[in-house]
This record gives sequence, structure tokens and C-alpha cells, in this order.
Amino acid sequence: MNPMIEIAYIVSAALFILGIKGLTKPKTAVRGNQLAAIGMLIAVVATLLNSSIVSYTTIILGGLVGGALGVVLAKRVEMTSMPQFVAALNGFGGGASLTVALAEFLRSAGLPEAQQLTGSVQTISSLATGLAIFIGAVTLTGSFIAFGKLQELLSGNSIGFPGIKIVNGVLLAISLLCILCLTGSPSSTFLITVLVLAAAALGVLLVLPIGGADMPVVIALLNSYSGIAAAAAGFITGNSVLIVAGSLVGASGIILTQIMCKAMNRSLFNVLFGVMGEGGDGPKMDADEVYAGKIKSTSPDELAMVLETARRVVIVPGYGLAMAQAQHAVRELATTLEGFGAEVVYAIHPVAGRMPGHMNVLLAEAEVEYDKMIDMDTVNPTFEQTDVAIVIGANDVTNPMAREDKGSPIYGMPILNVDKANTVVVVKRSLSAGFAGLPNPLFAKDNTLMMFGDGKQAIVDLTSALKEL
Ligand code: NDP
Repeated sequence: MNPMIEIAYIVSAALFILGIKGLTKPKTAVRGNQLAAIGMLIAVVATLLNSSIVSYTTIILGGLVGGALGVVLAKRVEMTSMPQFVAALNGFGGGASLTVALAEFLRSAGLPEAQQLTGSVQTISSLATGLAIFIGAVTLTGSFIAFGKLQELLSGNSIGFPGIKIVNGVLLAISLLCILCLTGSPSSTFLITVLVLAAAALGVLLVLPIGGADMPVVIALLNSYSGIAAAAAGFITGNSVLIVAGSLVGASGIILTQIMCKAMNRSLFNVLFGVMGEGGDGPKMDADEVYAGKIKSTSPDELAMVLETARRVVIVPGYGLAMAQAQHAVRELATTLEGFGAEVVYAIHPVAGRMPGHMNVLLAEAEVEYDKMIDMDTVNPTFEQTDVAIVIGANDVTNPMAREDKGSPIYGMPILNVDKANTVVVVKRSLSAGFAGLPNPLFAKDNTLMMFGDGKQAIVDLTSALKEL
């Protein structure tokens, strides 16, 4: 390969790494993203300069259609639909690696015998092809099932049948066997066909049983798979930048998966072997049983009087804040409270909202200072010294069942301990459940007041009431 192309690949790999480093801090995140984008541009241009490209027509046409679709979709997608958008992108990533591997298989199978690879080079090439096809197909179908679940085209609950794990085990064994046999029969169309079908079915059956609050973990894991598939495709095509970029996505996806597992109290073993979402098997609590006669509601005027004298206020944003687009209203409320002399911070749960970092992005959009967004482990010990915790559109991430009810499906998931604050105010439209579909005993606690209404309107009304005091 042209040494200039190799140098360009090294530059882009370095830019990817610097980009990821930038993404580790909110202040450098935008720059990090730009660096990575420049790296990708260099990699794409360098690849297009490869002398073995026969015709540019399909590449240009594909680039124009794909690019236009990407721009339109990314501009139109709602913040709240970001997880399914990411799921679809992961699926396309897996699909791309799958098709690259299939194309490479067809190309090398069609070569005259004298030009076929032999010995250990052939073994490695067949293993890489098999792995890229396997992981690519699992990622493709798994991601589109995840998309369907998050987009509510399929039920968001666990879908399965008795013995599904055995079927998954058999499909995994068939896939691995096909990959091994490929090293002996590298041109076998039969093996490739069985591998594609088994892996595609495995992708579907791995994700279907996952439901409720476990979906974010699976999205992060599929993201990692798409990176590993790309790295395998890089081995097949001898493309170093694809190997580096794929490995970076694979590794960062696994790290994110682990962080999310910890945040949701799932072990990586359970994630990898598809036994998520089963939850506790104890008696399920009924909403009426939890709430009957115990709910106290409040109004913006009443609450303004409570807040007037508060010294420390913690705002707890959740998915409903995104739905209501209340971030600017919340920022205005915080400024008003600070005007009354209160210290105001935001408590961020790692899986609040519908994607990792969802709340940080929303609040940053309203120019909330990064140092006021406090992560769960840091903020939790401070709730006991908090006068008022205002929970806006958050539900599961504050549910004390996760701490106290061993039978609950979310038992063990770390939560924001808002119930330890002196007074808790929950802003939401009704007593409806959150993503996990569970009642929340927080709403019925003695120190909790419910302020029913749309998140944005309720906060605007509260701020007006405060200003009128
Ligand atoms: P939840 O989904 O638990 O609850 C959101 C609440 O927002 C609902 O109870 C709803 O109540 C309320 N709400 C909706 N619209 C509005 C509105 N316009 N105004 C006011 N309130 C509104 O959200 P959390 O953030 O607490 O928890 C996130 C959940 O999502 C977790 O279970 C997590 O596992 C899961 N998840 C997280 C992902 C991530 O990566 N962050 C990805 C996918 C899932 P009401 O209808 O009564 O208003």
C-alpha cells in the first residue's frame, strides 16, 4: 500500500485516540468530537486514494445516498429517540462489517487455486472472516430488534419461550463450529450460509428476551460488538485504520457496558449470556397498594413558600425532563433559587433518561455549569443535608424498591437516595410508572409532595410563584 496512505491512517488513528481523550471531560468533549471527525475524514479520503479501487461511481453514489440519509435522520431525530437511533447505527455498523467480510469471502473463493492463501495466513484470514461475519450478523439483527423494542414496534418487555437459552447455546455452538471448519474449507459457501443464518438468529434471540430497564446495557454492548466486527473486517482487508477504529469502539463499548452494568447492578456475565431482564421473582407490588391514601399533592404557590427558606436544593432530572423539554425552565428556577441564597446542584444518575449522558447533554444545552452536575456516588451522601430535592420527570432512578424490596425486578440497582432529603418534591403528570413499569413508594413517603403537571409548565409556574414572593 502507498506509504502516504499508511501515514494518513496513523494520523487518523492518533486523532481518534485524542478525540476519545477529549470526550472524557465535558469541557473538551466538543473539541474531542471534532478531532475524531477530522480523523475520520482523513481516513475516508486516504482510503479513496487507494489505487486498487476500480470504479468510483458506486462509492460516490453510495456516499451521497448514505450521507444524505444520515444528515436528514440525525437532524430529525428527537433527543428522546436517540437510543433507538444509536441502536440502528450499531446495526448498520455490524451490517457493513458483515457485507465486507462476505465480499472478501466471495472474492477469495473465486481466485484461481494458485492465488489462494495457504498455511497460517489462510487460517488467520478464515478465522477473521468467520468472526467478522458472526459478530456482524449478531450485531445487525440484535440491533434492529433493540431498535424495534425502543421504538415500540415490538413489546418492550421480555419476549421469549422456554428453552431459549438452550437454543442460543446451540446457535452459538453451530456458529463457532462453522468458523473452525472454515479454516479447513475456506471456500465453502455452505459453511458461510449456515454461519450467517445461525448468527442472525442468535442476534434476534439474544435481544428479544431483554426487556425494560436492561435495554441501555444491551445497546452499549451491541455498540461494542459493532466495533469488534469492524476490527475483524479490518484484519480481512488489511486496513490498519479499521482495526484501530474498530478496537477503540469495541473497547470503549465494553467499558461503557461495564459502567452501565454497575449502575444497574447487572453482572457482565449475565449481559454476555443473555440472562438479563429477569428481575426478582418475589411478589410484585400493586400501584394501588403502594399509593392508596398516602399521596400528598402540592401547588407551585405552596412549594414556593417551602423553597423560599431552603439553603440547599438538589434538582434530580429524569426522562420526563427531556420529554417536557424543561431544561431551560429548570435553569431559570435554579437561578431564581440562588437569588434567594440557596445552593443548587443537579444529581445525575448514570442511566437517567434514555441514554448514557442524556441528562448532562440536556442540562448543558441550557448552559448549566458542568461542576453543578454531580454524579450519583458524590451526591448520595449529601441528601441528608439537603432541604429540598426536586425530582423532575425522574422515576425509576429514585425508586427505593431498588434498595429495600428484594422481590423487585430492580432490586440492587443503585438509586439516587432522594428520600433522605428533608422534603422531596416530585414533578410529573400522574402516578404513572417509569420505564421499568413499577410503582414508586417514594411518591407515598411522608416527606414527599407531588406536584402534578407537565414538567416545563410546572417549573415555569413555580419560578413565577417564587418571583412573586
Ligand atoms: P423513568 O422512565 O423511570 O420515568 C420517567 C417519568 O417521567 C415517568 O414516570 C413520567 O411520568 C414522567 N414524564 C413523562 N413525560 C413527562 C412530562 N412531559 N412532564 C413531566 N413528567 C413526565 O425515567 P428515569 O429517568 O427515572 O429512569 C430512566 C429509566 O430508563 C431507567 O429505568 C433506565 O434503566 C431506563 N433506560 C435508560 C437508558 C439510559 O441509558 N439512560 C436507556 C434506556 C432505558 P408521567 O407519565 O406521570 O408524567
